[in-house]
Amino acid sequence: MPKFSTLDDLSVAGKRVLVRCDLNVPMKDGRVTDATRIERSAETLKELSGKGARVIVLSHFGRPKGKRSAEFSQKPLVEPLAQALGRRVAFAEDCIGPEAEQAAKALKDGDVLLLENLRFHNEEEANESGFTRQLAALADLYVNDAFSAAHRAHASTEGVAHLLPAAAGRLMQAELDHLQAALENPKRPVMAIVGGAKVSTKLDLLGNLVGKVDRLVIGGGMANTFLFAQGAEIGKSLAEREMADTARDILGKARERNCKILLPVDAVVAAEFKANPLVETVAANAVPNNKMILDVGAKTIAAIVAEMKKCKTLVWNGPLGAFETPPFERATIAVAQEAASLTRAKALLSVAGGGDTVAALAAAAVEDQFSYVSTAGGAFLEWLEGKELPGVAALIPK
Ligand code: AMP
Repeated sequence: MPKFSTLDDLSVAGKRVLVRCDLNVPMKDGRVTDATRIERSAETLKELSGKGARVIVLSHFGRPKGKRSAEFSQKPLVEPLAQALGRRVAFAEDCIGPEAEQAAKALKDGDVLLLENLRFHNEEEANESGFTRQLAALADLYVNDAFSAAHRAHASTEGVAHLLPAAAGRLMQAELDHLQAALENPKRPVMAIVGGAKVSTKLDLLGNLVGKVDRLVIGGGMANTFLFAQGAEIGKSLAEREMADTARDILGKARERNCKILLPVDAVVAAEFKANPLVETVAANAVPNNKMILDVGAKTIAAIVAEMKKCKTLVWNGPLGAFETPPFERATIAVAQEAASLTRAKALLSVAGGGDTVAALAAAAVEDQFSYVSTAGGAFLEWLEGKELPGVAALIPK
């Protein structure tokens, strides 16, 4: 990917700067219950304010579907944002129109203004040109710090970037730098671990990764489909048996591209999917008829770790087993802890992401010991699929 612009490319003093953040935090009874996203957004906003910019913050919150409502107002975010920034934050009850214009005009150097929810207007998600022009008219410069929304071509994530000088904020920059280091210009060999429930939701991702990485570990429920496709007995395991041809195609493509595939060689099985059932470990190709695979076994863990030790880069999405239900978290935790230890020893650059993966790394207590853990969900997956993210493409100077 060509280099995107950053805050270092903008001269912001005295300028009005629109900053697209992701302040879509969990909220209960009008109070923010987890301010992580607000705190993470603070770095860019503080830097801009410190450099004398007049900062105008844009975000979406929830799914108001184009209608104004108290439930989805961003007003309750003002206080937590002010706390994170250590300065007063003004608020305008709309993101376009006279309210927003007056509030933007009233800003002095260093001031911060939060605008009301972008998604009170359907035109935001439609990337409608009149709405986009009204947003752009509020400011001189545009900064996008919301990687998690970069897979959407909305007015605030893509449209505005074409109307104003545009750059990535520090959060977006950190995310892109790590993602590029992991898959675009990685230190080789590169290992990818892909787990999770189904092959069908991760076809594009697997197709992209076999062309880019040197070792691909397939775990979780999706590995069962691959085992089945190779003629293994998988008992009553979750599998998409109708996708056997697709699985064989992926294995064929991997062979052509010299990507070594690691499938489970042994499996932890049980008769029922429930917490703490009677379990046994069996060969992954000989699962008894009345049993199902719920985690990979010790031999598979050892094989993954041995290969990982030969690698310099790791990309991880999806758990190796049904990690929410004990004891089927063991393999995911063991491999995550090994990756964390190699990362601490500076032998491995490790990047992980996706909702379940973040939860699995948290269960292993290593989410802060990877080189980078992306909380971006959909945008992270689309990036793993090799797709161009419109919000990122718009930050690359033509
Ligand atoms: P995904 O959202 O596709 O990443 O899938 C994550 C889900 O896959 C988690 O809820 C896991 O519990 C589930 N999962 C992983 N391995 C298995 C398995 N062997 N059998 C059933 N579910 C699994």
